[in-house]
Amino acid sequence: STAVESALSSVADGLGLPSKYGHYINGQFVEPANGQYFDNISPIDGQPFIQAARGTKADVDAAVLAANTAYRTTWSKVSVTERSNMLLKIADLLEENLERLATIECVDNGKALRETKAADIPLSIDHFRYFAGVIRAEEGAASEIDANTLSLSIQEPLGVVGQIIPWNFPILMAAWKLAPALAAGNCVVLKPAEQTPTSIMAVMELLSTVLPPGVVNVVSGFGGEAGEALATNKGIAKLGFTGSTATGKNILHAAAESLIPTTLELGGKSPSLFFSSVLDKDDDFLDKAVEGAVLFALNQGEVCTCQSRLLVQEDIYERFMEKVVARTEAIKTGDPLDEATMMGAQVSSAQHEKIVNYINLGTSEGAKVLTGGAANDVVNGGYYIKPTILSGTNDMKIFQEEIFGPVTSVTTFRDEEEAVAIANDTVYGLGAGVWTRDAHQAYTVPRQIQAGRVWVNCYHAYPAHAPFGGYKQSGSGRETHKMMLNHYRQTKNMLVSYDKSKL
Ligand code: NAD
Repeated sequence: STAVESALSSVADGLGLPSKYGHYINGQFVEPANGQYFDNISPIDGQPFIQAARGTKADVDAAVLAANTAYRTTWSKVSVTERSNMLLKIADLLEENLERLATIECVDNGKALRETKAADIPLSIDHFRYFAGVIRAEEGAASEIDANTLSLSIQEPLGVVGQIIPWNFPILMAAWKLAPALAAGNCVVLKPAEQTPTSIMAVMELLSTVLPPGVVNVVSGFGGEAGEALATNKGIAKLGFTGSTATGKNILHAAAESLIPTTLELGGKSPSLFFSSVLDKDDDFLDKAVEGAVLFALNQGEVCTCQSRLLVQEDIYERFMEKVVARTEAIKTGDPLDEATMMGAQVSSAQHEKIVNYINLGTSEGAKVLTGGAANDVVNGGYYIKPTILSGTNDMKIFQEEIFGPVTSVTTFRDEEEAVAIANDTVYGLGAGVWTRDAHQAYTVPRQIQAGRVWVNCYHAYPAHAPFGGYKQSGSGRETHKMMLNHYRQTKNMLVSYDKSKL
Protein backbone atom coordinates (compact mmCIF):
# COMPACT_ATOMS: atom_id res chain seq x y z
CA SER A 1 0.00 0.00 0.00
CA THR A 2 1.11 3.59 -0.44
CA ALA A 3 -0.64 4.56 2.77
CA VAL A 4 2.43 3.85 4.89
CA GLU A 5 4.77 5.80 2.65
CA SER A 6 2.65 8.92 2.54
CA ALA A 7 1.91 8.75 6.27
CA LEU A 8 5.62 8.47 7.02
CA SER A 9 6.82 11.30 4.82
CA SER A 10 4.21 13.70 6.13
CA VAL A 11 4.83 12.69 9.73
CA ALA A 12 8.63 12.91 9.33
CA ASP A 13 8.29 16.36 7.77
CA GLY A 14 6.15 17.53 10.68
CA LEU A 15 8.68 16.42 13.31
CA GLY A 16 11.02 19.31 12.60
CA LEU A 17 14.11 17.07 12.53
CA PRO A 18 17.28 18.33 10.84
CA SER A 19 18.49 16.47 7.73
CA LYS A 20 21.36 15.10 9.85
CA TYR A 21 22.53 15.04 13.45
CA GLY A 22 26.19 15.37 14.44
CA HIS A 23 27.53 13.92 17.68
CA TYR A 24 26.43 15.62 20.87
CA ILE A 25 29.68 16.59 22.60
CA ASN A 26 30.29 19.22 25.28
CA GLY A 27 26.77 20.59 25.04
CA GLN A 28 26.69 20.98 21.25
CA PHE A 29 25.98 19.05 18.09
CA VAL A 30 29.33 18.74 16.30
CA GLU A 31 30.53 17.40 12.96
CA PRO A 32 32.12 13.95 13.13
CA ALA A 33 35.95 14.16 13.10
CA ASN A 34 36.19 12.42 9.72
CA GLY A 35 33.11 14.16 8.30
CA GLN A 36 31.25 10.88 7.68
CA TYR A 37 27.52 10.29 8.11
CA PHE A 38 25.34 7.23 7.52
CA ASP A 39 21.69 6.86 6.54
CA ASN A 40 19.18 6.09 9.25
CA ILE A 41 16.57 3.88 7.61
CA SER A 42 13.03 3.88 8.94
CA PRO A 43 11.78 0.28 9.18
CA ILE A 44 8.29 1.55 8.37
CA ASP A 45 9.10 1.82 4.66
CA GLY A 46 12.79 0.85 4.37
CA GLN A 47 13.72 4.40 3.32
CA PRO A 48 16.32 6.74 4.88
CA PHE A 49 14.67 9.58 6.80
CA ILE A 50 17.70 11.29 8.38
CA GLN A 51 21.49 10.92 8.57
CA ALA A 52 23.56 10.21 11.66
CA ALA A 53 27.23 10.90 12.37
CA ARG A 54 29.48 7.87 11.96
CA GLY A 55 31.64 8.02 15.07
CA THR A 56 35.26 6.93 15.29
CA LYS A 57 37.91 6.86 18.00
CA ALA A 58 38.62 10.58 17.53
CA ASP A 59 34.98 11.45 18.32
CA VAL A 60 34.91 9.16 21.34
CA ASP A 61 38.19 10.64 22.62
CA ALA A 62 36.74 14.15 22.29
CA ALA A 63 33.57 13.10 24.14
CA VAL A 64 35.51 11.41 26.96
CA LEU A 65 37.73 14.48 27.31
CA ALA A 66 34.68 16.77 27.47
CA ALA A 67 33.10 14.50 30.08
CA ASN A 68 36.26 14.41 32.21
CA THR A 69 36.59 18.19 32.07
CA ALA A 70 32.93 18.67 32.98
CA TYR A 71 33.29 16.21 35.86
CA ARG A 72 36.35 17.99 37.27
CA THR A 73 35.19 21.55 36.81
CA THR A 74 31.44 21.48 37.37
CA TRP A 75 29.54 18.27 37.89
CA SER A 76 31.52 17.02 40.91
CA LYS A 77 30.71 20.30 42.64
CA VAL A 78 26.96 20.15 42.07
CA SER A 79 25.01 19.27 45.22
CA VAL A 80 22.67 16.31 45.51
CA THR A 81 19.70 18.67 45.69
CA GLU A 82 20.72 20.45 42.50
CA ARG A 83 21.28 17.14 40.70
CA SER A 84 17.92 15.88 41.84
CA ASN A 85 16.22 19.05 40.63
CA MET A 86 17.88 18.73 37.22
CA LEU A 87 16.63 15.16 36.88
CA LEU A 88 13.13 16.36 37.73
CA LYS A 89 13.43 19.09 35.12
CA ILE A 90 14.52 16.51 32.52
CA ALA A 91 11.44 14.43 33.37
CA ASP A 92 9.20 17.49 32.95
CA LEU A 93 10.74 18.27 29.55
CA LEU A 94 10.26 14.70 28.35
CA GLU A 95 6.65 14.91 29.48
CA GLU A 96 6.03 18.21 27.69
CA ASN A 97 7.48 16.69 24.51
CA LEU A 98 5.93 13.24 24.88
CA GLU A 99 3.94 13.27 21.64
CA ARG A 100 6.88 14.39 19.49
CA LEU A 101 9.42 12.03 21.09
CA ALA A 102 6.97 9.12 20.86
CA THR A 103 6.51 9.79 17.14
CA ILE A 104 10.25 10.10 16.46
CA GLU A 105 10.81 6.83 18.33
CA CYS A 106 8.14 5.18 16.18
CA VAL A 107 9.73 6.36 12.91
CA ASP A 108 13.26 5.51 14.13
CA ASN A 109 12.52 2.02 15.44
CA GLY A 110 9.31 0.90 13.71
CA LYS A 111 7.50 0.17 16.98
CA ALA A 112 3.83 1.06 17.41
CA LEU A 113 3.07 4.68 18.30
CA ARG A 114 0.49 3.56 20.83
CA GLU A 115 3.31 1.74 22.67
CA THR A 116 5.80 4.60 22.56
CA LYS A 117 3.11 6.96 23.90
CA ALA A 118 1.90 4.58 26.60
CA ALA A 119 5.14 2.89 27.61
CA ASP A 120 8.52 4.01 26.22
CA ILE A 121 8.28 7.71 27.04
CA PRO A 122 6.19 7.52 30.26
CA LEU A 123 8.53 4.85 31.69
CA SER A 124 11.53 7.03 30.79
CA ILE A 125 9.98 10.03 32.55
CA ASP A 126 9.27 7.93 35.63
CA HIS A 127 12.85 6.73 35.70
CA PHE A 128 14.26 10.23 36.00
CA ARG A 129 11.71 11.09 38.71
CA TYR A 130 12.45 7.91 40.66
CA PHE A 131 16.21 8.50 40.77
CA ALA A 132 15.69 12.20 41.53
CA GLY A 133 13.74 11.11 44.61
CA VAL A 134 16.03 8.29 45.68
CA ILE A 135 19.18 10.40 45.94
CA ARG A 136 17.46 12.90 48.26
CA ALA A 137 16.72 10.06 50.66
CA GLU A 138 20.15 8.38 50.47
CA GLU A 139 22.52 8.40 53.42
CA GLY A 140 26.02 7.11 54.08
CA ALA A 141 27.06 5.26 57.22
CA ALA A 142 28.97 6.03 60.37
CA SER A 143 30.11 3.55 62.94
CA GLU A 144 32.27 3.68 66.01
CA ILE A 145 35.26 1.34 65.77
CA ASP A 146 36.33 2.11 69.36
CA ALA A 147 35.93 5.01 71.77
CA ASN A 148 38.41 7.11 69.79
CA THR A 149 37.88 5.95 66.22
CA LEU A 150 35.07 6.65 63.82
CA SER A 151 34.47 4.92 60.49
CA LEU A 152 32.67 7.08 57.92
CA SER A 153 31.47 5.53 54.67
CA ILE A 154 30.61 7.93 51.88
CA GLN A 155 29.47 7.00 48.38
CA GLU A 156 31.50 8.75 45.69
CA PRO A 157 30.78 8.84 41.95
CA LEU A 158 33.13 6.92 39.64
CA GLY A 159 33.80 9.90 37.34
CA VAL A 160 33.13 9.35 33.64
CA VAL A 161 31.17 6.27 32.63
CA GLY A 162 30.68 4.75 29.18
CA GLN A 163 27.28 3.38 28.22
CA ILE A 164 26.34 1.36 25.15
CA ILE A 165 22.69 0.65 24.39
CA PRO A 166 20.64 -1.39 21.89
CA TRP A 167 17.91 -0.41 19.42
CA ASN A 168 14.81 -2.04 20.84
CA PHE A 169 13.87 0.73 23.32
CA PRO A 170 16.27 3.52 22.34
CA ILE A 171 14.98 6.29 24.61
CA LEU A 172 13.98 4.01 27.48
CA MET A 173 17.31 2.17 27.49
CA ALA A 174 19.06 5.56 27.53
CA ALA A 175 16.88 6.65 30.47
CA TRP A 176 17.61 3.41 32.34
CA LYS A 177 21.32 4.14 31.97
CA LEU A 178 21.49 7.94 32.23
CA ALA A 179 19.18 8.55 35.19
CA PRO A 180 21.10 6.46 37.75
CA ALA A 181 24.54 7.41 36.38
CA LEU A 182 23.73 11.13 36.69
CA ALA A 183 21.93 10.65 40.00
CA ALA A 184 25.07 9.00 41.39
CA GLY A 185 27.08 12.04 40.25
CA ASN A 186 28.86 10.78 37.13
CA CYS A 187 29.38 12.26 33.67
CA VAL A 188 28.51 10.05 30.72
CA VAL A 189 29.54 9.16 27.18
CA LEU A 190 26.75 7.15 25.58
CA LYS A 191 26.65 5.30 22.28
CA PRO A 192 23.22 4.48 20.83
CA ALA A 193 22.71 1.58 18.42
CA GLU A 194 23.40 2.25 14.74
CA GLN A 195 19.86 1.15 13.85
CA THR A 196 18.32 3.90 16.01
CA PRO A 197 20.63 6.92 16.31
CA THR A 198 17.98 9.64 15.99
CA SER A 199 15.52 9.67 18.91
CA ILE A 200 18.31 9.99 21.50
CA MET A 201 19.53 13.16 19.73
CA ALA A 202 16.03 14.66 20.00
CA VAL A 203 16.27 13.89 23.73
CA MET A 204 19.71 15.55 23.92
CA GLU A 205 18.26 18.75 22.47
CA LEU A 206 16.05 18.87 25.57
CA LEU A 207 18.78 17.84 28.04
CA SER A 208 21.06 20.56 26.68
CA THR A 209 18.78 23.16 28.27
CA VAL A 210 19.19 21.58 31.72
CA LEU A 211 22.64 19.99 32.11
CA PRO A 212 25.99 21.80 32.06
CA PRO A 213 28.00 21.11 28.85
CA GLY A 214 29.93 17.83 28.85
CA VAL A 215 27.88 16.09 31.55
CA VAL A 216 26.21 13.84 28.96
CA ASN A 217 27.79 13.25 25.54
CA VAL A 218 26.41 11.05 22.77
CA VAL A 219 28.55 9.60 19.99
CA SER A 220 26.56 7.77 17.32
CA GLY A 221 27.97 5.08 15.05
CA PHE A 222 28.65 1.40 14.59
CA GLY A 223 29.56 -1.19 17.20
CA GLY A 224 32.94 -2.11 15.75
CA GLU A 225 33.90 1.57 15.42
CA ALA A 226 32.41 3.99 17.96
CA GLY A 227 31.31 1.16 20.29
CA GLU A 228 34.68 -0.51 20.48
CA ALA A 229 36.46 2.85 20.82
CA LEU A 230 34.28 3.62 23.85
CA ALA A 231 34.62 0.17 25.43
CA THR A 232 38.43 0.33 25.18
CA ASN A 233 38.84 4.00 26.12
CA LYS A 234 41.22 4.56 29.04
CA GLY A 235 39.36 7.66 30.23
CA ILE A 236 36.24 5.86 31.44
CA ALA A 237 35.83 4.47 34.94
CA LYS A 238 32.99 2.04 34.19
CA LEU A 239 31.08 0.54 31.33
CA GLY A 240 27.35 -0.16 31.28
CA PHE A 241 26.22 -2.29 28.35
CA THR A 242 22.90 -3.59 27.07
CA GLY A 243 22.88 -5.77 23.99
CA SER A 244 23.58 -9.28 22.81
CA THR A 245 25.40 -11.90 24.84
CA ALA A 246 28.06 -12.25 22.11
CA THR A 247 28.93 -8.53 22.23
CA GLY A 248 28.72 -8.57 26.04
CA LYS A 249 31.52 -11.12 26.12
CA ASN A 250 33.71 -8.86 23.92
CA ILE A 251 32.96 -5.90 26.17
CA LEU A 252 33.99 -7.85 29.23
CA HIS A 253 37.32 -8.77 27.64
CA ALA A 254 37.99 -5.11 26.84
CA ALA A 255 37.03 -4.09 30.37
CA ALA A 256 39.38 -6.70 31.84
CA GLU A 257 42.30 -4.98 30.11
CA SER A 258 41.76 -1.76 32.07
CA LEU A 259 40.10 -3.45 35.06
CA ILE A 260 37.03 -1.28 34.98
CA PRO A 261 33.74 -2.46 36.49
CA THR A 262 31.17 -3.53 33.93
CA THR A 263 27.46 -4.21 34.10
CA LEU A 264 25.86 -6.26 31.37
CA GLU A 265 22.21 -6.64 30.39
CA LEU A 266 22.19 -9.33 27.72
CA GLY A 267 19.95 -11.72 25.84
CA GLY A 268 17.27 -14.09 27.03
CA LYS A 269 15.12 -17.07 26.17
CA SER A 270 12.46 -16.44 28.75
CA PRO A 271 9.91 -19.14 29.54
CA SER A 272 6.31 -18.59 30.61
CA LEU A 273 4.80 -21.52 32.51
CA PHE A 274 1.04 -22.11 32.37
CA PHE A 275 -0.25 -24.58 34.97
CA SER A 276 -3.54 -26.51 34.66
CA SER A 277 -5.40 -24.36 37.18
CA VAL A 278 -5.31 -21.46 34.71
CA LEU A 279 -8.18 -23.18 32.87
CA ASP A 280 -10.19 -24.10 36.00
CA LYS A 281 -12.65 -21.31 35.33
CA ASP A 282 -13.63 -19.23 32.34
CA ASP A 283 -13.07 -15.86 33.99
CA ASP A 284 -10.95 -12.69 33.94
CA PHE A 285 -7.92 -14.56 35.25
CA LEU A 286 -8.02 -16.91 32.26
CA ASP A 287 -8.32 -13.92 29.91
CA LYS A 288 -5.36 -12.30 31.62
CA ALA A 289 -3.27 -15.48 31.24
CA VAL A 290 -4.11 -15.73 27.53
CA GLU A 291 -3.23 -12.06 27.13
CA GLY A 292 -0.01 -12.75 29.08
CA ALA A 293 0.95 -15.50 26.63
CA VAL A 294 0.27 -13.27 23.63
CA LEU A 295 2.62 -10.61 25.01
CA PHE A 296 5.40 -12.62 23.32
CA ALA A 297 4.72 -10.28 20.40
CA LEU A 298 5.00 -7.07 22.43
CA ASN A 299 7.28 -4.57 20.70
CA GLN A 300 7.43 -6.94 17.67
CA GLY A 301 9.02 -9.49 20.01
CA GLU A 302 12.07 -7.25 20.25
CA VAL A 303 12.24 -7.33 24.03
CA CYS A 304 15.05 -9.16 25.79
CA THR A 305 12.49 -10.63 28.23
CA CYS A 306 9.85 -11.64 25.68
CA GLN A 307 8.45 -15.04 26.59
CA SER A 308 9.99 -16.79 23.63
CA ARG A 309 9.13 -20.17 25.18
CA LEU A 310 5.61 -21.05 26.31
CA LEU A 311 5.49 -24.12 28.57
CA VAL A 312 1.94 -25.42 28.97
CA GLN A 313 0.80 -28.25 31.27
CA GLU A 314 -0.15 -31.11 29.00
CA ASP A 315 -3.76 -31.58 30.16
CA ILE A 316 -4.73 -28.02 29.14
CA TYR A 317 -2.48 -27.69 26.10
CA GLU A 318 -5.09 -28.07 23.33
CA ARG A 319 -7.77 -25.88 24.91
CA PHE A 320 -5.35 -23.20 26.14
CA MET A 321 -3.42 -22.92 22.88
CA GLU A 322 -6.66 -22.65 20.91
CA LYS A 323 -7.40 -19.46 22.86
CA VAL A 324 -3.81 -18.16 22.55
CA VAL A 325 -3.79 -18.71 18.79
CA ALA A 326 -7.16 -16.97 18.36
CA ARG A 327 -5.97 -14.01 20.45
CA THR A 328 -2.66 -13.86 18.54
CA GLU A 329 -4.51 -13.73 15.23
CA ALA A 330 -6.48 -10.73 16.51
CA ILE A 331 -3.29 -8.63 16.89
CA LYS A 332 -3.51 -5.70 14.53
CA THR A 333 -0.21 -5.42 12.66
CA GLY A 334 0.99 -2.88 10.11
CA ASP A 335 1.75 0.84 9.97
CA PRO A 336 3.02 1.71 13.46
CA LEU A 337 1.97 5.34 13.07
CA ASP A 338 -1.68 4.22 12.97
CA GLU A 339 -2.74 4.27 16.61
CA ALA A 340 -4.90 1.19 16.16
CA THR A 341 -1.76 -0.82 15.31
CA MET A 342 -0.50 -3.06 18.10
CA MET A 343 2.57 -4.45 16.35
CA GLY A 344 4.69 -2.45 13.91
CA ALA A 345 7.80 -3.19 11.86
CA GLN A 346 10.97 -5.08 12.85
CA VAL A 347 13.89 -2.71 13.36
CA SER A 348 15.93 -3.53 10.23
CA SER A 349 16.04 -5.69 7.14
CA ALA A 350 18.82 -7.75 8.77
CA GLN A 351 16.61 -8.44 11.79
CA HIS A 352 13.69 -9.26 9.49
CA GLU A 353 15.80 -11.76 7.59
CA LYS A 354 17.14 -13.33 10.79
CA ILE A 355 13.59 -13.92 12.06
CA VAL A 356 12.39 -15.44 8.78
CA ASN A 357 15.43 -17.73 8.80
CA TYR A 358 14.65 -18.86 12.35
CA ILE A 359 11.04 -19.66 11.44
CA ASN A 360 12.29 -21.73 8.50
CA LEU A 361 14.89 -23.40 10.72
CA GLY A 362 12.09 -24.29 13.17
CA THR A 363 9.98 -25.99 10.54
CA SER A 364 13.02 -27.81 9.17
CA GLU A 365 13.70 -29.04 12.73
CA GLY A 366 10.18 -30.49 12.78
CA ALA A 367 8.32 -27.71 14.62
CA LYS A 368 4.67 -27.18 13.67
CA VAL A 369 3.40 -23.71 12.80
CA LEU A 370 0.31 -23.00 14.95
CA THR A 371 -0.14 -19.52 13.53
CA GLY A 372 1.87 -17.01 11.47
CA GLY A 373 4.87 -18.44 9.64
CA ALA A 374 7.66 -17.29 7.40
CA ALA A 375 5.33 -15.79 4.80
CA ASN A 376 5.60 -12.32 6.25
CA ASP A 377 3.56 -9.30 5.36
CA VAL A 378 6.11 -6.85 3.93
CA VAL A 379 4.27 -3.60 3.41
CA ASN A 380 5.73 -1.25 0.88
CA GLY A 381 9.37 -2.00 1.65
CA GLY A 382 8.97 -2.05 5.44
CA TYR A 383 10.03 -4.97 7.62
CA TYR A 384 6.88 -6.69 8.87
CA ILE A 385 6.45 -10.20 10.32
CA LYS A 386 3.25 -11.97 11.36
CA PRO A 387 3.18 -13.05 15.02
CA THR A 388 4.19 -16.70 14.92
CA ILE A 389 3.78 -19.65 17.29
CA LEU A 390 5.78 -22.82 16.68
CA SER A 391 5.22 -26.02 18.64
CA GLY A 392 8.11 -28.38 19.26
CA THR A 393 10.53 -29.57 21.94
CA ASN A 394 13.02 -27.73 24.10
CA ASP A 395 16.06 -29.29 22.42
CA MET A 396 15.31 -27.48 19.14
CA LYS A 397 17.38 -24.42 18.21
CA ILE A 398 14.21 -22.28 18.15
CA PHE A 399 13.85 -23.09 21.89
CA GLN A 400 17.49 -22.44 22.70
CA GLU A 401 18.63 -19.45 20.62
CA GLU A 402 17.41 -15.90 20.90
CA ILE A 403 15.29 -14.98 17.85
CA PHE A 404 14.32 -11.47 18.98
CA GLY A 405 11.17 -11.31 16.91
CA PRO A 406 7.42 -11.98 17.27
CA VAL A 407 8.03 -15.72 17.41
CA THR A 408 7.45 -17.99 20.37
CA SER A 409 7.99 -21.71 20.71
CA VAL A 410 5.53 -23.81 22.71
CA THR A 411 5.92 -27.18 24.36
CA THR A 412 4.23 -29.18 27.11
CA PHE A 413 5.22 -30.37 30.59
CA ARG A 414 3.77 -33.08 32.82
CA ASP A 415 4.33 -31.70 36.30
CA GLU A 416 6.10 -28.97 38.29
CA GLU A 417 9.40 -30.77 38.29
CA GLU A 418 9.48 -31.11 34.53
CA ALA A 419 8.29 -27.51 34.07
CA VAL A 420 11.19 -26.17 36.14
CA ALA A 421 13.69 -28.44 34.41
CA ILE A 422 12.63 -27.20 30.96
CA ALA A 423 12.48 -23.57 32.13
CA ASN A 424 16.09 -23.76 33.35
CA ASP A 425 17.40 -25.68 30.34
CA THR A 426 18.98 -22.76 28.42
CA VAL A 427 22.15 -20.71 28.85
CA TYR A 428 20.00 -17.65 29.64
CA GLY A 429 18.27 -16.49 32.80
CA LEU A 430 16.66 -13.10 32.27
CA GLY A 431 12.87 -13.23 32.63
CA ALA A 432 10.23 -15.88 33.30
CA GLY A 433 6.49 -16.04 33.89
CA VAL A 434 4.48 -18.34 36.13
CA TRP A 435 0.70 -18.54 35.75
CA THR A 436 -1.28 -20.48 38.34
CA ARG A 437 -4.24 -20.11 40.71
CA ASP A 438 -2.39 -22.20 43.33
CA ALA A 439 -0.77 -19.90 45.92
CA HIS A 440 1.79 -22.50 46.97
CA GLN A 441 2.87 -23.03 43.37
CA ALA A 442 2.93 -19.26 42.81
CA TYR A 443 5.67 -18.96 45.42
CA THR A 444 7.67 -22.19 45.17
CA VAL A 445 7.97 -22.47 41.38
CA PRO A 446 9.42 -18.97 40.82
CA ARG A 447 11.98 -19.66 43.55
CA GLN A 448 13.27 -22.62 41.51
CA ILE A 449 13.58 -20.74 38.24
CA GLN A 450 17.01 -19.37 37.36
CA ALA A 451 16.04 -15.89 36.21
CA GLY A 452 16.54 -12.39 37.55
CA ARG A 453 12.89 -11.42 37.11
CA VAL A 454 9.98 -13.84 37.48
CA TRP A 455 6.56 -12.36 36.84
CA VAL A 456 3.84 -14.23 38.68
CA ASN A 457 0.36 -13.96 37.16
CA CYS A 458 1.47 -10.94 35.14
CA TYR A 459 4.14 -10.16 32.55
CA HIS A 460 6.16 -7.33 31.02
CA ALA A 461 5.80 -4.82 33.87
CA TYR A 462 8.90 -2.68 34.48
CA PRO A 463 8.46 -0.37 37.48
CA ALA A 464 11.50 1.81 38.20
CA HIS A 465 11.60 0.62 41.81
CA ALA A 466 11.93 -3.15 41.18
CA PRO A 467 15.40 -4.53 40.31
CA PHE A 468 15.89 -5.98 36.85
CA GLY A 469 18.74 -8.07 35.46
CA GLY A 470 19.98 -11.45 34.40
CA TYR A 471 21.18 -14.75 35.82
CA LYS A 472 23.61 -16.96 33.87
CA GLN A 473 24.52 -15.63 30.38
CA SER A 474 21.82 -12.96 30.55
CA GLY A 475 24.22 -10.62 32.29
CA SER A 476 25.58 -9.32 35.53
CA GLY A 477 24.48 -6.43 37.70
CA ARG A 478 21.02 -4.94 37.95
CA GLU A 479 19.20 -2.02 36.38
CA THR A 480 16.29 0.04 37.67
CA HIS A 481 15.81 0.18 41.50
CA LYS A 482 18.00 2.20 43.85
CA MET A 483 20.37 -0.74 44.37
CA MET A 484 21.87 0.02 40.99
CA LEU A 485 23.26 3.35 42.22
CA ASN A 486 26.04 1.23 43.69
CA HIS A 487 27.00 0.11 40.17
CA TYR A 488 27.76 3.79 39.49
CA ARG A 489 29.74 4.74 42.57
CA GLN A 490 32.33 3.51 45.00
CA THR A 491 32.64 3.58 48.76
CA LYS A 492 35.09 6.00 50.36
CA ASN A 493 35.82 4.94 53.88
CA MET A 494 37.35 7.53 56.20
CA LEU A 495 38.79 6.05 59.37
CA VAL A 496 39.15 8.97 61.73
CA SER A 497 41.08 8.91 64.99
CA TYR A 498 40.11 11.31 67.77
CA ASP A 499 42.74 9.86 70.08
CA LYS A 500 44.82 12.56 71.77
CA SER A 501 47.67 10.18 72.66
CA LYS A 502 50.63 9.56 70.34
CA LEU A 503 50.44 6.89 67.60
P1 NAD B 1 24.46 -5.86 19.79
O1 NAD B 1 25.18 -6.44 20.95
O2 NAD B 1 24.95 -6.17 18.44
O3 NAD B 1 24.41 -4.26 19.87
C1 NAD B 1 24.13 -3.56 21.05
C2 NAD B 1 25.01 -2.32 21.12
O4 NAD B 1 26.36 -2.69 21.19
C3 NAD B 1 24.88 -1.40 19.89
O5 NAD B 1 24.98 -0.06 20.31
C4 NAD B 1 26.09 -1.78 19.07
O6 NAD B 1 26.53 -0.77 18.21
C5 NAD B 1 27.11 -2.05 20.17
N1 NAD B 1 28.21 -2.92 19.78
C6 NAD B 1 28.20 -3.94 18.88
N2 NAD B 1 29.44 -4.50 18.80
C7 NAD B 1 30.23 -3.84 19.67
C8 NAD B 1 31.60 -3.95 20.04
N3 NAD B 1 32.40 -4.88 19.51
N4 NAD B 1 32.09 -3.10 20.97
C9 NAD B 1 31.29 -2.18 21.53
N5 NAD B 1 30.00 -2.00 21.21
C10 NAD B 1 29.46 -2.83 20.29
O7 NAD B 1 22.98 -6.29 20.01
P2 NAD B 1 21.78 -6.22 19.00
O8 NAD B 1 21.63 -7.60 18.45
O9 NAD B 1 21.84 -5.08 18.11
O10 NAD B 1 20.63 -5.93 20.08
C11 NAD B 1 19.73 -6.83 20.54
C12 NAD B 1 20.24 -7.59 21.75
O11 NAD B 1 20.16 -6.80 22.93
C13 NAD B 1 19.43 -8.81 22.04
O12 NAD B 1 20.27 -9.92 22.16
C14 NAD B 1 18.72 -8.51 23.34
O13 NAD B 1 18.42 -9.60 24.13
C15 NAD B 1 19.63 -7.58 24.00
N6 NAD B 1 18.92 -6.71 24.91
C16 NAD B 1 19.04 -6.94 26.26
C17 NAD B 1 18.36 -6.15 27.17
C18 NAD B 1 18.50 -6.37 28.65
O14 NAD B 1 18.15 -5.50 29.43
N7 NAD B 1 18.98 -7.51 29.09
C19 NAD B 1 17.58 -5.09 26.71
C20 NAD B 1 17.47 -4.88 25.34
C21 NAD B 1 18.16 -5.70 24.46
